[in-house]
Amino acid sequence: MPLSAAASAREILVRLHDVMAGRSPAQAKLNQVVQIIGEAIGSEVCSVYLLRDGVLELFATRGLAEAAVHVTKLSVGEGLVGIIARDMEVLNLDEAAVHPDFVYRPETGEDRFHSFAGVPVVRRERAVGVLAVQHSEPRRYADVEIEALQTVAMVLSELIANAGLIDSGAAADRPQPTQATRLAGQKLVDGMGAGYAVFHQPRIVVEHTVAEDTEAERRRVYAAFDRMREQIDRMTREAEFGVGGEHEEVLQTYKMFAYDEGWQRRINEAIDSGLTAEAAIERVQQRTRQRMRQIDDPLLADRMHDLEDLANRLLRIVSGQMGTAAQLGLKRDTVLIARNLGPAELLEYDRRRLKGVILEEGSLTAHVTIVARAMGVPVLGRVRDVRRQVADGDLLLLDVAEGAVFVRPSAAMDEAFDAKLRARQERRAALARLRDFPPVTKDGHRVALMMNAGLRDDVSALDMTGADGIGLFRTEFQFLVSATLPQRERQQRLYREVMDGAGDRPVVFRTLDIGGDKALPYLDVEAGDEENPAMGWRALRLALERDGLMKAQARALLEAAAGRTLRVMFPMVSEPWEFEEARNLFERQREWLAARGRRLPAEVRYGAMLEVPALAEQLDVLLPRIQFLSIGTNDLTQFLFAADRANPKLAERYDWLSPSILRFLGRVAAQARAADVPVTVCGEMGGRPLEAMALMGVGIDRLSITPAAVGPLKAMIRSLDRSALVECVTRLLAAPGRSIRQQLGDWAAAQGVELA
Ligand code: PEP
Ligand code: MG
Repeated sequence: MPLSAAASAREILVRLHDVMAGRSPAQAKLNQVVQIIGEAIGSEVCSVYLLRDGVLELFATRGLAEAAVHVTKLSVGEGLVGIIARDMEVLNLDEAAVHPDFVYRPETGEDRFHSFAGVPVVRRERAVGVLAVQHSEPRRYADVEIEALQTVAMVLSELIANAGLIDSGAAADRPQPTQATRLAGQKLVDGMGAGYAVFHQPRIVVEHTVAEDTEAERRRVYAAFDRMREQIDRMTREAEFGVGGEHEEVLQTYKMFAYDEGWQRRINEAIDSGLTAEAAIERVQQRTRQRMRQIDDPLLADRMHDLEDLANRLLRIVSGQMGTAAQLGLKRDTVLIARNLGPAELLEYDRRRLKGVILEEGSLTAHVTIVARAMGVPVLGRVRDVRRQVADGDLLLLDVAEGAVFVRPSAAMDEAFDAKLRARQERRAALARLRDFPPVTKDGHRVALMMNAGLRDDVSALDMTGADGIGLFRTEFQFLVSATLPQRERQQRLYREVMDGAGDRPVVFRTLDIGGDKALPYLDVEAGDEENPAMGWRALRLALERDGLMKAQARALLEAAAGRTLRVMFPMVSEPWEFEEARNLFERQREWLAARGRRLPAEVRYGAMLEVPALAEQLDVLLPRIQFLSIGTNDLTQFLFAADRANPKLAERYDWLSPSILRFLGRVAAQARAADVPVTVCGEMGGRPLEAMALMGVGIDRLSITPAAVGPLKAMIRSLDRSALVECVTRLLAAPGRSIRQQLGDWAAAQGVELA
C-alpha cells in the first residue's frame, strides 16, 4: 500500500511520463496505461472507457476479456460507468453487483470481480471517459488510491485529447451531447440574439499535466499566488472608489481565499504527485467541486463560485493567458457570459459580433446595463449558475422579452426562436420604413420625437431612426467608461463630434449626473457611505459644490459649440436657485472665454430637468428663467412614490400609468404651456407606446426616448386621433381606478391604434 496520495500518484506519473513521450500509437499507449495503473494500485482489473459518438466504449483493459475491447458500449447514464460519466462523480463500491445501476455485460467476463471504483475523465468540464478498477476481493479502495486514480485521469484526458481518440465535439467545439436547457433571468435590456457562448474571463484548458521539473512548477505556482494577491488587493482598493464590476463582499471572499494557506498547500501536494502547476490547480479544484456537490448549502455554493473565479484567475496567471475575451477578439457571433461587467469592459467588445450578454448578477440601473442599452445589446441578468450550466462554445438563443436563454437549443426551440426573430425583424423593417415619415397624428398634430444618447456612436442612430434630434445626451457616460478623468480637450472633442454628427438637429447636453451610485474612481469626492445614494450628494448638488469639474465641462461645451446653438440642461434641480447658480457658472465661463477672444456659441439655451417633485411647486418661479424643461420620469416617479427604481420588489407595485403620475405630469405640462416653455419627457417611460400615448393624453408632445423606440412610437402616433385621446384620458383621470392601463389599452385597441 503506498504511503500517500502524492507518492502513489507520482510513482504512476513517472511511468506514464515515458509512455506519453513515446512514439507508439495511441491505442498501444492506452494499453500500456491500464497495465501501469493496474500494477501500481495492485488491482486485478483496470479499464478505460472513452466517449465516442455519444457512447462510452471500452477502449483498453487489463483484466477483462480482450474480446470486449471496442465491443462493450454503454450509454451515458447506463451502468456504473455510465453514471460516473453522467454525474461526473466517483464511485467506490465493495460489491458492485448490488448497486441498482449495475448492468452485467457477459462479454467482459467481469462476474468474477466484486469491488469496483471508477473516476470520470474530464476535459473542459465535461466527462469524456471513465477510468475504472476492479478486484475480486470485496474491498473498498482507499482514499489515496482514489486520489491517485483521479490524478491519473487528468493525464489520461491529455493523452486522449492529443491522440484524437475522442471526437473533439465531446469536449467543446461541436454541439454537446448534453441536453437542451432553458435558463431564466431578469430582463435588463430587451432584445433577441443568437450566438456562441464566450466567457468574459476565458477558461483555461490544461494542456500539459505531467511535470518535467517539479521544483520549477512549484516556483511557478508561488509566483502566480503572489501576483494574484497583488491583483486582489488592487481590486479591493479600487472597489472602495466604487469602480469595477465586482462587489465588495465578493472581493472580501476573494481575499480570504487568495490568502488561504490551505489552498496553496493542497496545490503544492498535487505538484508533489508529479503534476504541472496548471494541472495541480485544476486537480485541487476538481476535488473541491466534488466535496461541494455533496453539501447542499446555498451559502457555500456562492462561496464555491468565488473560489472557481479565483482558481480560474490563478490558472490564467500561471499559464500567462491574462487577456479577457475582448482582448482575444470575438471570432463569430457571440453571447458573452460574465458574473458581472464594468461598462468600460463591455465597450471593449466588437459590437458587430456581440449579440447579447448574460450576467450572473447585474441590475437594471447598473452602469453596464445603461451602456448596453445604448449599444443596443440585449442583456439578461441574474441568471443563476449560468457559468456552470453553459460551456464555452455552446450555442445560445437569448430572448430577453421571454426572460430566458436557450442553451444548446433543441430543433423545436430553434424553430420557435427563428420564427419570433423573423417576426421581430419584419416589424423592425416595417418601422424603419417609417423613418422618413413625420410623427404626426391622424388629426394633424406634430409630436417631437428626440432620442437619448451618451456615446459617440449613438449619433448615427439619428439618421437610422429619423429622430428629430438628441433630447438627452448623458455626458456622464464618457466619464463612466474612462479609466481616468476625461480632460477638457477630450470632452470638447466628443461634444464637437456629436454636434457635427447631428448637423441641423438639436442636441441637448445634460451636465454631469454623477455621485451617489455613479461614483468615479479617479474623482476625489467623499460622498461617504450614503444610505440613499439616489437621494444623496449627486448631480447638480455635487457639481455646484465641487465646481472645478462643472467649469471644465462648461468651457468644453461652449467651445465645442462655437458658432452654433448650445443647449444645456442641469440634472436634479430641486429649487430654482440651483438652476440660477448653474447658469451663472456657465455664463461666467462664457465671459472668461470671450475675454480671451475664443469663438463662442451663437446662442446658449438653458434648461432644467424636473426630477425632484419639490421643483414642481416652484414652477412659477422657475419657468420664466428657463428656455426648456425636461422631465426625467425615471427619477421623478421613484421620488413621487417613494419607491426605489432599482428595487425589484417594487418594480410592479406602482404603475407609470397611475393617476398620480399622470395628473402630476399633466399639471406640469399645462403650466409650462401657459408660460410658453417647451416641455419634454426623457425618462424610459416615454419609450413605451402605451405610456407615450398616455403622456400625449395629458398634453405632452415632446419625447426623448431610446433609439429603438422611435419606430414603434411613430407607428402609434400616426395611427392616433389626438383629440379623441385627450378626451379619453381626461375622462379616465377624472374618476380613476388604481391605474388606467387596462382602459387605455382597450380604448387604443377599439380605435385601431398601433401599439407594439
Ligand atoms: C431620468 O431620471 O428620468 C433621467 C432621464 O435621467 P437618468 O435616467 O440618467 O437618471
Ligand atoms: Mg435622472
